[in-house]
Amino acid sequence: VLESAERQPVRLLRILRAVQDRYRHIPEQAIDIIAEQLKISRTEIIAVVEFYSFFHRQPQGRYDILISDSITDWMLDKANIMSYLSKVLKVDVGTVRGDGLVSLNNTSCTGMCDQGPAGLINGYALTRLDRPKIDDMAVLIEQAVPLSEWPAEFFQVSDNIQRPGLLLQQAIAPGSGLTRALARGLKETLTEIEKSGLRGRGGAGFSTAMKWRFCAEAQSDRRYVVCNADEGEPGTFKDRVLLNSYADQVFEGMTLCAALIGAEQGYLYLRGEYRHLEDKLQKILQQRRDDGLLGQNILGQELNFDIEICMGAGAYICGEESALIESLEGKCGIPRNRPPYPVTQGYLHKPTVVNNVETFMAAAAIAVNGGDWFKGAGTERSAGSKILSISGDCAKPGIYEYPFGVAIKQILSDCGAVDVQGVQVGGPSGSFISDQELERQLAFEDLATGGSFIVFNNSRHVLDVVKNFTHFFAHESCGFCTPCRVGTSLLKKQLDKIVDGHGSAGDVAALEELCQLVKNYSHCGLGQTAANPVLTTLQRYPELYQRQLKKISYEPGFDLDGALEVARRMANRDDAGAHLTQVEE
Ligand code: SF4
Repeated sequence: VLESAERQPVRLLRILRAVQDRYRHIPEQAIDIIAEQLKISRTEIIAVVEFYSFFHRQPQGRYDILISDSITDWMLDKANIMSYLSKVLKVDVGTVRGDGLVSLNNTSCTGMCDQGPAGLINGYALTRLDRPKIDDMAVLIEQAVPLSEWPAEFFQVSDNIQRPGLLLQQAIAPGSGLTRALARGLKETLTEIEKSGLRGRGGAGFSTAMKWRFCAEAQSDRRYVVCNADEGEPGTFKDRVLLNSYADQVFEGMTLCAALIGAEQGYLYLRGEYRHLEDKLQKILQQRRDDGLLGQNILGQELNFDIEICMGAGAYICGEESALIESLEGKCGIPRNRPPYPVTQGYLHKPTVVNNVETFMAAAAIAVNGGDWFKGAGTERSAGSKILSISGDCAKPGIYEYPFGVAIKQILSDCGAVDVQGVQVGGPSGSFISDQELERQLAFEDLATGGSFIVFNNSRHVLDVVKNFTHFFAHESCGFCTPCRVGTSLLKKQLDKIVDGHGSAGDVAALEELCQLVKNYSHCGLGQTAANPVLTTLQRYPELYQRQLKKISYEPGFDLDGALEVARRMANRDDAGAHLTQVEE
């Protein structure tokens, strides 16, 4: 039975998560009870359960293991890790073992690309998996030892800060941003943020001051602040580190925003894969309440604001701000039509600022140090610094912070990358940069990025990378619009056909045409960028695609002759005339 405060449809995700934790799935009976208590239909609940990959209608193993499918994990021998896990635990991938003790499956990137092969067990991060670790895990699982009694090293996640810069060098003291803003004046602080040139760090780069101003000016009785900590772009893990070691500053930035726009409630939407951070973040929030930095009359002023943590449930699309808002409201994370934008109609259709973790952190630092301090770094159009998550073929993967304008070759030299074939900047939805373009700069005016930076050396096959990214998008499409739902699946199929050596010249042209269709007609950013891995590599490495082609004019994508087998049997024929030639020479 739900507490009365919980009996609201917006609480649905939180309720489902609690049920899933308790029963290892969402039982039919629970769906009935939730439907009755929230006064919503069963079908709405089932739609939500089926939308999020971390919810299940069938019981999972008592130890539910998911292994990351990120390209960086494949580069770290994920295939062997997976088959070893399957062998040692006696469970097939994608199934629950007969005795219900363990289940094993794949999942999208878990945000541990600097310390893979990685995965999750009952939602908690597993890093640096290898055979000895798997052997130890198997013993603990067979003895049914609760996770809370497992040695801590299984769950060790390191920050890996390799190069601190403007923001990472020194965190601000808790409360100092707010104190300084109140002393300076709230309007003047917003002007200071404007002067700093701070642009959203998610990749799109919208002016932060302008966003906050639009929200403050929107007519409404309530406003909200939302921190997007749903970094799901494969190769991105900086928010994990910022929330592990700089969370106070992030919460300070959210509180500052609330003071400037007049909000009383904020939400940190934390990706489900970062469950290991949840308790720590709750403690920091409580400490801030105890210190008078959250809650009623913050710092003795007429300023009321609090922050709640909401956990995602394994849907990459929820990183898109309007999908994230839908998810916060307890629904499927399907992106909304825009306009209206969240600044005027966001959470519960009230004006809402959605910024990412790094943006709030930077805003808090600007409140303390001033706009000129921030603008002093970076380029004319890209002020300040950018925090990068670096992984792949380099000696020192981890977190690096650079002033905007830094050249790619400088970054590669710092992280110990040699024999570089190319770099994926901005994750699968970003761009593949070849070794001929290493002079290019990270900046909104050249290479904009949310922070993912994956290095590939010359031992890697570019088409394997493209294949991994294309499969990722097909898996993560939310299914709302046809060009993306069908288009990403067709892209995957068409690319596989070429990469697996069944393509002909016409297939590359068809692939390109399909890319344009998905890019131009999809509803949101996911679909609009899903073809980027193919398009950016087709442009740079056309010969790689050509090399895979057969010298035939056409080969169909399915076995038409095989499909006629039943008809042949029924007609009792097996002569040449009853067979189709599928490959035109
Ligand atoms: Fe969903 Fe893809 Fe359409 Fe975006 S483009 S709404 S992810 S189906």
